[in-house]
Amino acid sequence: MRKTAHETIYDVAVIGGGASGMMAAIAAKSQLPEGGVILLERNDILGRKLLATGNGRCNFTNTLALPLDYGTSAEFTEPAMEAVNPLHVIQIFDSMGILYRVEDEGRVYPHSGQGATVTQAMERKLKQLDVRVKKNAVVEAVSYSTKFDIMLKGGKTIAADKVIIACGGKAGGQYGCQGDGYTFAKSFGHDVKKIRPALVAVNCRSDEADGRDAWKKEWKGVRSQAKVSLWRVSLRDGEETCVAEDHGEVQFTDSGLSGICVFNLSRHIVFTGNMKDGRNETYMMEVDFLPDWTEERIYHMLERRREELAEHDADALLMSVVNSRLINGLLEQVGFKGLTIVLDGVEEKTWPDLKTITDDQLMKLAKLLKGWRFEIEGTRGWNDAQVTAGGVDCTQVDPVTMESKLQRGLYLCGEVLDVDGKCGGYNLQWAFASGYTAGIHAAE
Ligand SMILES: Cc1cc2nc3c(=O)[nH]c(=O)nc-3n(C[C@H](O)[C@H](O)[C@H](O)COP(=O)(O)OP(=O)(O)OC[C@H]3O[C@@H](n4cnc5c(N)ncnc54)[C@H](O)[C@@H]3O)c2cc1C
Repeated sequence: MRKTAHETIYDVAVIGGGASGMMAAIAAKSQLPEGGVILLERNDILGRKLLATGNGRCNFTNTLALPLDYGTSAEFTEPAMEAVNPLHVIQIFDSMGILYRVEDEGRVYPHSGQGATVTQAMERKLKQLDVRVKKNAVVEAVSYSTKFDIMLKGGKTIAADKVIIACGGKAGGQYGCQGDGYTFAKSFGHDVKKIRPALVAVNCRSDEADGRDAWKKEWKGVRSQAKVSLWRVSLRDGEETCVAEDHGEVQFTDSGLSGICVFNLSRHIVFTGNMKDGRNETYMMEVDFLPDWTEERIYHMLERRREELAEHDADALLMSVVNSRLINGLLEQVGFKGLTIVLDGVEEKTWPDLKTITDDQLMKLAKLLKGWRFEIEGTRGWNDAQVTAGGVDCTQVDPVTMESKLQRGLYLCGEVLDVDGKCGGYNLQWAFASGYTAGIHAAE
């Protein structure tokens, strides 16, 4: 840290006191104990988003996370993910006093289940290292002449030899991330790849005008274990490509699908082009309610039930096979006609006897149970998203140091970069690995 007649020049200034920024400041100051490190955070607390992670339990890394698990080239993520792999992240937090537990699929949490302890441990470490922490500091612009000048809302300027942009992306804007990091990076000539909300619920088409199956609000609240796959369908020639698939609990909302497996698939939804509604293609989510069964086996099961329950109303066919609130939709979808009656002002569906259902309808039902398709209108918005897909173009950043290739002394880390991972601790793993890497190298 240097002092001139007019100002103090910090060795390292970190913009953003979230997961990657706190880690970057800790690493920089550990590397440079006598140096001046300042951490600037717009909120009145550090790690506001971190406190909300993992439903308040903070799933802070994943023992299975690998460089190729991210939505960018593994060549970029590899150096940081190897230098600070999940085991290192666990060790770093262990040294800060966080006892951890590993749960299903490698998810790592504080043992107590209280995510706030992660933020508290980081704050304690920042204090112990004597990092200058400035809260309520909204950075409005960053420029470089012989040093970096960081302009704060209110008119103050902070000077530094090195700057780390750790402002996050645009997801979870309510926690303080509004995309400012992209503006700062662009001002140094960086390109930003198209950003979009990811790890987010999707909205399904509810318009019944063209006779295709449409989303029904009454499905809200249904949960089902299933395999879900995402299909991209070209509007030019109808070609269909399976983009990705996942297993888990699918949740039906008033407007579409949700749940961790749907979140993971949402990362792959990228609408392009300019044809129908400004799109070249559309996306479908296909729900397989019986992933361990073949279509043939389902058909025989339905056939047997038709015989055994012949005199029952037709909806008995699918009782206990799928959630009862989905049964009417499935029967309608295969063209089986019921009657809607209004009893005391409440609409109710009644069905003819099960024996009247045809072989063809049984066949269609077996197919549908293996793959009920819903057209995706879009994802939910930024405030519902857990992460940002897209961001600062990684080819313009040195993967070993996280330094910008366009401006010496400028570093970027965390979600502001075009790196996103699936649910389960992958994104915090990246935030900590890239933050630590940026901090160490900025302090060199
Ligand atoms: C509800 C929710 C749950 C999640 N759960 C998990 C989970 O369990 N596991 C997991 O791995 N990931 C999870 N994530 C994703 C994870 O939290 C992020 O990927 C991660 O926090 C990104 O770290 P970051 O440091 O890049 O950004 P952030 O943690 O978002 O931090 C950026 C910080 O910069 C500050 N800032 C922004 N602009 C300015 C400015 N102009 N001036 C000053 N400060 C500024 C912000 O206020 C913020 O504090 C979750 C996300 C959400 C929204």
